[in-house]
Amino acid sequence: MNFADLGLSDELLKAVVDSGYTTPTPIQEQAIPQVHMMRDIIAIAQTGTGKTASFVLPMIDILANGRRRALMPRSLILEPTRELAAQVAENFEKYGKNHNLKMALLIGGVQMGDQVKALTEGVDVLIATPGRLMDLFERGKILLTGCSMLVIDEADRMLDMGFIPDIENICTKLPTARQTLLFSATMPPPIKKLADRFLTNPKYIEV
Ligand code: AMP
Repeated sequence: MNFADLGLSDELLKAVVDSGYTTPTPIQEQAIPQVHMMRDIIAIAQTGTGKTASFVLPMIDILANGRRRALMPRSLILEPTRELAAQVAENFEKYGKNHNLKMALLIGGVQMGDQVKALTEGVDVLIATPGRLMDLFERGKILLTGCSMLVIDEADRMLDMGFIPDIENICTKLPTARQTLLFSATMPPPIKKLADRFLTNPKYIEV
């Protein structure tokens, strides 16, 4: 199989070629068509399997349609650490270079001013750690009611770091009519419970 068989747009295929990738990894092969079809997925995949591109690529295609609104991000990617959030942001910039999409990175340890300014102007994708996101939400700087796509990445690490209550809280602020993608290296019972509560008829993918 090659990238052209996965249903990605021509602009994205160009960005993939420019990244030097020739063949999709197994997680990309299985996840990209499902995400493209707007299905919820639970993907059991370790870091290093190419899982980031498996959600960032179809997400860019989905976001290419529709328009930005002030204060209302259209999609949200939750990451357990600042470092992972920054890596996902780099991926988004690399693959999205042929698209006019706006991204904001909401992580702790960074002044809130620029983050708030970006949100006020409107963003297509918000990449955030749960703590900083909740903080800005509670200050009334974000509305999550326009967010129709959610990625919960590294869910088992989120659990280890005590972020599950924050994630549950965040999920209840998003519209129920949304697409949710959950990635985890393992599936301990609290993550299974989270998935049962917040995903709809998910496709289960294990690589
Ligand atoms: P990830 O699991 O998302 O952290 O990705 C691990 C590494 O694999 C990253 O450095 C990616 O740039 C690289 N990568 C992702 N997809 C592919 C691919 N299809 N072919 C070669 N390398 C890839």
